Amino acid sequence: MRIDYRELKQQIRLIDLLTRIDWKSTKGRGEQLRGPCPLTTCRSQVTDCNTHDDSAFSVNTTKNIYRCFRCGSAGNALDFWLNYRAITLHQAAMELSRDCP
Ligand SMILES: [Zn+2]
Repeated sequence: MRIDYRELKQQIRLIDLLTRIDWKSTKGRGEQLRGPCPLTTCRSQVTDCNTHDDSAFSVNTTKNIYRCFRCGSAGNALDFWLNYRAITLHQAAMELSRDCP
């Protein structure tokens, strides 16, 4: 199966993926949302308790991109999914394209 990454990136809404994994924003409204970073790699990072930040993860729902100010992970919906699931870009694209009608 041939994957059109560009088309897929436009089809997949980051906010839909976040809703699917039960992510809830703690700050922000409209297109700019902030909340805890859902990435396992981020959560498992050893950090100072005092610097605990439940809004390090920033999402722009219009641009369909995210950035985490704690672990530095950033990108589009496809990037998010491969980081979240710890899989390759190809695997992520396969998973997400299966969900598309
Ligand atoms: Zn993070």
